[in-house]
Amino acid sequence: MAQLFFRYGAMNSGKTIEILKVAHNYEEQSKSVIIMTSGLDNRDGVGYVASRIGLKRPAIPVFDETNVLEVVKQTNPDAACVLIDEAQFLKKHHIIELAHIVDELHIPVMTFGLKNDFRNELFEGSKYLLLYADKIEEMKTICWFCRKKAIMNLRFHDGQPVYEGEQVQIGGNEAYYPVCRRHYFFPPEINKVRN
Ligand SMILES: [Zn+2]
Repeated sequence: MAQLFFRYGAMNSGKTIEILKVAHNYEEQSKSVIIMTSGLDNRDGVGYVASRIGLKRPAIPVFDETNVLEVVKQTNPDAACVLIDEAQFLKKHHIIELAHIVDELHIPVMTFGLKNDFRNELFEGSKYLLLYADKIEEMKTICWFCRKKAIMNLRFHDGQPVYEGEQVQIGGNEAYYPVCRRHYFFPPEINKVRN
């Protein structure tokens, strides 16, 4: 049975490399996959999933007005799997469309993304994935400052932690750190920890 998966993790928990790995595993068996990512994330140009270790490949960008069910019907309704990166940036309607891909087209959908924003609120896409997904899995990584599990994302601006502001401010890895709860509220000075 096809299922809707949500695999969430803090910054740098290896979400994108996992997508590339899953895609590779399917394609090794001559099964085709559809890879999509948020059109919001322009770090590497719209329409790519790119991991920090240097691997990247094209992906279909999802914009607010994109109907992802129609994208799958039109590009490859026989796909073995649909993979979605940066799923936190999706809208509620996208998540419901993903559920229809699973339930109507019987294609498994694996979504990957952050759960918490830097204010420690849910992203819209993550909220509805938590509500609609069949399977929810945590991808673990450790706190930037200690050995505890990172469960939050801390934003630094000019070396200072930031807890308020617009939810989406994409600027690359330099400003966001995976942190445990204690270090979310009481981070060491960032300049003393890493150059
Ligand atoms: Zn910590």
